[in-house]
Amino acid sequence: MAKIVDLLASGRTFSFEFFPPKTAAAELALLHTIAELEPLHPSFVSVTYGAGGSTRELTRDLVMWVRRDTSITPMAHLTCIGHTKREIDEIIAMYLEHGVENILALGGDLSTETDQARPSDFTYATDLVTHLRTRTNTSLSIGVAAHPEVHPRSPDRASDRRHLAEKLRMADFAITQFFFEVKHYVRLVEELAELGVHTPIIPGIMPVTNKSQVQRMSQMSGAVFPEWLSDRLADVGDHDEVQRIGIETATLLCSELLDAGAPGLHFYTLNRSTATRHIYENLGLPRV
Ligand code: FAD
Repeated sequence: MAKIVDLLASGRTFSFEFFPPKTAAAELALLHTIAELEPLHPSFVSVTYGAGGSTRELTRDLVMWVRRDTSITPMAHLTCIGHTKREIDEIIAMYLEHGVENILALGGDLSTETDQARPSDFTYATDLVTHLRTRTNTSLSIGVAAHPEVHPRSPDRASDRRHLAEKLRMADFAITQFFFEVKHYVRLVEELAELGVHTPIIPGIMPVTNKSQVQRMSQMSGAVFPEWLSDRLADVGDHDEVQRIGIETATLLCSELLDAGAPGLHFYTLNRSTATRHIYENLGLPRV
């Protein structure tokens, strides 16, 4: 299977993110989504990880299914929260045995009230990346998270960028939290360049398909939901119209990002295909 570091070295990547379904109906819906997106020939797809333990096995199962039953390269998310070094080594050994060589190393967030914080050998994502680089004795392709509008827990912009730069010096690439205006990405890349870091940063794209959901997610992740977008959606009640505006604004953002030199685009699909397919079409993206 391809390594993302190699894919990035040979051109732009276009990728999709899924979360592991928790019910049989959701699983069926996701299989349908993947079947609809596979013809777009994504460079890779990534699968989120329930840091508190809620979806750990489901992540593994979905990653393995993509690896075994589709033509797409999978990337598994992995978090610091609640993991010992030994557990991490076991998970990586299992992935490598099945040919999965792409890992997104994250701090992790507890996602539901049922998630329990368990003891961990890692505090920050940098610790996990260091461990993966030094202990697993492999040539894993390792990505990390970046927050263009600064991580909500960072006390200030300068320390956020300093810690991110340190992480990126060890990682192969980053994928960003979603954002709605190109200026946030451009500023992030410039600030990292000032710190001497030129690791590829793939912007994460979240097309608006559901107003209240995306506003809630923005609040949690520290992304500003801009006034112009809020105004545009203010009196729109119809779901199809919300989605149409979401696709139009996300297409424009993607186009500006590509013009600004982004090394790829990573779509937060929320396990649906419609918005991503339309944006692909609008941008005239190659399906090779
Ligand atoms: P870190 O890099 O550890 O940073 C967290 C905070 O600690 C930041 O404020 C940083 O500045 C600070 N920090 C870092 N190093 C130091 C240091 N040495 N000293 C002091 N402060 C420091 N969460 C999940 O649970 N599962 C997922 O699958 C998942 N997928 C994601 C995918 C993407 C593309 C993104 C952008 C996020 C994802 N998240 C996921 C969310 C992520 O786990 C959270 O944003 C989490 O709160 C921080 O993760 P991080 O990897 O940025 O952490």
